[in-house]
Amino acid sequence: MAAKVEPFWKRKTLEQMDQDEWESLCDGCGLCCLQKLEDEDDGSVYYTRIACKLLDLNTCRCTNYSERRKFVPDCIQLTPAQADSFQWLPPTCAYRLISEGKDLLIWHPLVCGDPEQVHKQRISQSGRMLSEGSVPEDEWEDHLIFRAG
Ligand code: SF4
Ligand code: SF4
Repeated sequence: MAAKVEPFWKRKTLEQMDQDEWESLCDGCGLCCLQKLEDEDDGSVYYTRIACKLLDLNTCRCTNYSERRKFVPDCIQLTPAQADSFQWLPPTCAYRLISEGKDLLIWHPLVCGDPEQVHKQRISQSGRMLSEGSVPEDEWEDHLIFRAG
């Protein structure tokens, strides 16, 4: 009888994953592309439902990924080297979960095989986000949805 091989995200650390494995961990929720506010006292990160100007409000995908830094210079590229500082990511984010030694969640595309579940299970904010240009920055705190970190 053949021994069962664990999936790569259970066998490998983030640093050990190859490029395809690393990319496939992203569930497409787009939550990390929401605008955030930081509490200056304790460093907590509060997510708003206000999307980055390049984020598609329904598909939750970046609309110009290859040239995004021209328009959003502070867009953060996640790398394995930052794995010990992923607390700012949403609690559902696969990179954060793996960095904390946890398993992927049941709706993750690698687990359930359906990339739409992240939207159907309302993990993403698909259809519930506001565009960056529609809310003045001094009103962002009226649209907080969760705290990370
Ligand atoms: S929060 Fe994590 S899983 Fe969701 S889009 Fe961002 S990197 Fe991908
Ligand atoms: S530029 Fe694209 S990848 Fe970067 S935060 Fe905005 S929508 Fe997300």
